[in-house]
Amino acid sequence: MTFRLYNTLTRQVEAFEPLQSGKVSLYTCGPTVYNYAHLGNFRTFLFEDLLRRWLEASGYEVFHVMNLTDVDDKTINGATAAGLPLRQYVQPYIDAFHEDRGYLRIRDASVYPRATDFIPAMIRLVEALLARGVAYRGEDGSVYFAIRKFPAYGRLSRVDTRELKAGASERVTSDEYTKEDVRDFAIWKAARPEDEKVGAAWDTPFGRGRPGWHLECSAMALELIGKHLGAEVLDIHAGGVDLIFPHHEDEIAQSCAVTGQDLFARYWAHGEFLNIRGEKMSKRFGNITTPRDLKEDGVDAGAIRLLMFQTHYRQQLDLTDDGLAAAQEASRRLGEFQNRLLETRSELDPPRLAQAAERLARDVAEGLNDDLNAPRAVAAMFTFMNEGNAALDAGERPGSAALRAWSNAEEVLGVTSKITSMRITGTGTTAPGGLQTRGEGTAELLDTSPADQSEELQKAWALQWAVRRKQAKGLRNYPEADRIRDLLRVAGWEVRDARDGSVEVVRIRRAS
Ligand SMILES: [Zn+2]
Repeated sequence: MTFRLYNTLTRQVEAFEPLQSGKVSLYTCGPTVYNYAHLGNFRTFLFEDLLRRWLEASGYEVFHVMNLTDVDDKTINGATAAGLPLRQYVQPYIDAFHEDRGYLRIRDASVYPRATDFIPAMIRLVEALLARGVAYRGEDGSVYFAIRKFPAYGRLSRVDTRELKAGASERVTSDEYTKEDVRDFAIWKAARPEDEKVGAAWDTPFGRGRPGWHLECSAMALELIGKHLGAEVLDIHAGGVDLIFPHHEDEIAQSCAVTGQDLFARYWAHGEFLNIRGEKMSKRFGNITTPRDLKEDGVDAGAIRLLMFQTHYRQQLDLTDDGLAAAQEASRRLGEFQNRLLETRSELDPPRLAQAAERLARDVAEGLNDDLNAPRAVAAMFTFMNEGNAALDAGERPGSAALRAWSNAEEVLGVTSKITSMRITGTGTTAPGGLQTRGEGTAELLDTSPADQSEELQKAWALQWAVRRKQAKGLRNYPEADRIRDLLRVAGWEVRDARDGSVEVVRIRRAS
């Protein structure tokens, strides 16, 4: 089976073939660290994480570069407003970004270059563009890319450059502009007093200033793939659809003009927007949600990944409270099923589980090979869960094939919730965590968790009480709910209610 990916450059789904056999270079535009990255940004990063994980699961060695934009119009404005040097202003947002992607189980890139650490590479790129005559110095001291000198300009975004006025003296200096505004763009911006004030200006042979945003990605990508792979063309370049123009179009112009290559990246992959109640998530609409908001609400990362992956990356996704609650419940069920699989594991698979495992592996592979059809891969996990639960209910035990198929799917998708409420109906045996069961369907929990048990079993014990407490609250039996809260506190646990109705226990201290 070959992996097929939609290529924005050709507007077609194409068979993927890397330049060097077995190796893939992947460049993904990272966050601009002037603020906390929001869920819309993270929808893109999660799509890229899925792409990365699927390439690795398919046997490729992936060299993944994700840059951090720490010098551009936005970070300079932020630093100016805060009255801080640029590097100091952005640092908390860089730390927060790494924290957030850790929470969302996003795999580490091979390297996270910071733009301000690559100024010499950027200077060399500007010099090369000046030497080739595709860039020129304006009377304002900035350096501009002359798009007329690069006939392939517009190939990715299909912007029509014929409309441009001949001998255009008009130029654009801001990092972001629209297709109606296509003009020569600044690759190096002359230093202004506000740049100097926050430490965002460097001396160069072509004048003191700072890089334009588009130039940064070209310079870092070329520098890093040259150094690590001896290449000057990327296999895959990915980002959000909003980056196609002008950012990626300008990256191509700058890079190809200097390498002389026909392509900067062989495949261009773009993820669609995340909307909130039909509006693109943005500061302008005041509808920003960040992963840390959801984390504080007790939402498990598996639920967020599930929510994102239930819609194909090339379709817009509307985030609603109902959608999030449904994803939390579904992710919790996947997590519970996973626990069940692990608890009942044995050696050999009974025939129906062996068949279900084969189907799961095949459907996940077929789905993801088909332009990362994650909704199909996720659906295969639910089908397997239903078949698996039925088999387990009938007393069958999963063997290595079932466990392997499941963990392979979960390894790529990462959609199961770690927050699971324990099943408290017993089967007549002594269950972990001090839960003693008496006959079918009834259970009695011990008031104290045996201290010699593993942390995992003690947590299972605490979770069972937390579920009981929730039931008591549901029945308005508040004295009982309070009693349970207190007994959990004594054992060193705090109980928290999640919005989706599930419960979570958090270790506050070790039991004495
Ligand atoms: Zn970029």
